[in-house]
Amino acid sequence: MAVIPVPDTHVSVTISELLKRSDELTTVSDTSRLDTEVLLCHILGKNRTFLYTWPEQLLSTSQQHQFQALFSRRLKGEPIAHLTGTREFWSLSLNVSSATLIPRPDTELLVEIALGLSLAKQAAVLDLGTGTGAIALALASEKPHWNICAVDAVAEAVALADENRQQFGFDHVRVFQSDWFSELSGQTFDLIISNPPYISASDDHLQQGDVRFEPCSALVADKSGFADLCTIVSCAGLHLNPGGWLILEHGYEQGDEVRQMMSLAGFSGIATHADLAGLERATIGHKT
Ligand code: GLN
Repeated sequence: MAVIPVPDTHVSVTISELLKRSDELTTVSDTSRLDTEVLLCHILGKNRTFLYTWPEQLLSTSQQHQFQALFSRRLKGEPIAHLTGTREFWSLSLNVSSATLIPRPDTELLVEIALGLSLAKQAAVLDLGTGTGAIALALASEKPHWNICAVDAVAEAVALADENRQQFGFDHVRVFQSDWFSELSGQTFDLIISNPPYISASDDHLQQGDVRFEPCSALVADKSGFADLCTIVSCAGLHLNPGGWLILEHGYEQGDEVRQMMSLAGFSGIATHADLAGLERATIGHKT
């Protein structure tokens, strides 16, 4: 027989009352209502439909405390993904942490470009600077026969990406620590894909929103944001099989330089793709 939970006697707050508090977040978030809904769903272990179906449902005292604690942190600007510990990317729910970048919807563009290539059934693929493992795991979810390496220079990111890999049981992905190509000598791939740090240290964007809570190691690069893009472009040729592809995410004003770098490094078929906002965001080329 189903046991009907008895509400805690101290409880007085309903879902709909807490949703009204979203107005308090408007100074720190453009998505205040959604943020509040996501926090409530996280605390209740329910989806958003539940919030609208049961607006009069009471929260227990501990759920109210949890809501208050997370809501206060959101008021201070902490990213929702850090509060819930997860972020959706390519329909995968990934664990996130402050050790690395929170996956962005824009980065799904790189996955789309990669899936549009006609690679061998058992293609060897490398995701450089994998962070949460987002790109590698999204590709793994679509291509069970690809052999995928996902590397990161930061040990905590490697551990996080591997934890994410394990939760999906992707045995065709290997995650390990490597500072770009440092641990990959002699290895070659059919596709190298990366969302490296590309923001200039002087960019005002770093003082706003979620990025304030993300590590500089995942965001900022020397030489006005170009240092890591440049390292990858210049070393990739050595690690690509003939005809192999390189796909890079970059800043919306970096397309010209990235195309030029790739061209100087001997890549062909160079093309830049726009993100969801119509801005240049990813460039692809192949080794001849
Ligand atoms: N696209 C991210 C941002 O602008 C930065 C990602 C990166 O540096 N790789 O916040």
